[in-house]
Amino acid sequence: MTWFGHDLSKVIEQMPIGVAVTLPHGAIEYANPHLRQWLGLSVERVLGANLAQFRSGSDAFPERIVRKTLLTGESWQGETEFRAETDEIRHALELACPLHDNTGHITHFIHFLQDIGALKLTQVLNKLAFYDNLTGLPNRNLFVERLSRAMDAAQRNRGGLALLYIDIDHFKRINDAFGHDAGDELLRQLAVRLQKCLRKTDTVARLGGDEFVIILEQISDTSLAIGMVENLLETCCGGYELRGHSQRVTLSIGIGMYPHDAKDMDALLKCADTAMYGAKASGRNGFRLSEPAPKKQYGVA
Ligand code: GH3
Ligand code: MG
Repeated sequence: MTWFGHDLSKVIEQMPIGVAVTLPHGAIEYANPHLRQWLGLSVERVLGANLAQFRSGSDAFPERIVRKTLLTGESWQGETEFRAETDEIRHALELACPLHDNTGHITHFIHFLQDIGALKLTQVLNKLAFYDNLTGLPNRNLFVERLSRAMDAAQRNRGGLALLYIDIDHFKRINDAFGHDAGDELLRQLAVRLQKCLRKTDTVARLGGDEFVIILEQISDTSLAIGMVENLLETCCGGYELRGHSQRVTLSIGIGMYPHDAKDMDALLKCADTAMYGAKASGRNGFRLSEPAPKKQYGVA
């Protein structure tokens, strides 16, 4: 077929994305040079082979569902993984669609594979830089960014926010009694419970060790923050199943109110941290408001 006198097959031959034409059961009838080069495959190796052969074993690619979709005449798009001859994993954004003959029958499938390796690498690096590996929660870096943004928004709107500083009581005892893995399990389960207590706009982060922080946005009223902390203590304190061991866990929480208690980030963190140590000193299993708010200790039964 030509296009203004040019051979259209050259377009596919020179396309900077992988193109494979397969029979509906997967046998490859054509693979363009970009795809062969991307996977490090010779023409002989690729022709007649099944496309599924080159998919990565770890990829949960739903081959059957995709084939079913294409046979109905619909196209399919998703992220897929392939294994190059060098054994390296290649990440693709794959668009697959059926090819019809003149009578409307589906004779082939065509797969367009766009390399998204660079994007994946950026995502991995971003995750390492901004998320805690153990719990999947935002880490200190992302927390600082979010707190800074939340404080700016509060200032603009003449509103406020609450910062909660949370530390597990006697966490070392769990590590000592049941092992580090059980301790890790508690950190993961606590992360899930903490998230359950929050609104969409709030942020929970793990600072490290057994320390977590929560930003409760758009809260100027201390009693509202106290209500949320009471709910949080009810949900997060109590029994945990840790690798076959049942363990009762309690938390100590310090509350810092912005801008009431502090006007900048470091001072606000210090306020909430100091209040948390106040809760520890008053017997743990409860929370304390930061200075200059009332020094009353609110325990949890
Ligand atoms: P307190 O009631 O005073 O908070 O006592 P604590 O035993 O909880 O003491 P602290 O908060 O200072 O101890 C934190 C411990 O957490 C210290 C360290 O051994 C342990 N830890 C730090 N990071 C990890 C981790 O990633 N996994 C596990 N399992 N333990 C950790
Ligand atoms: Mg602790």
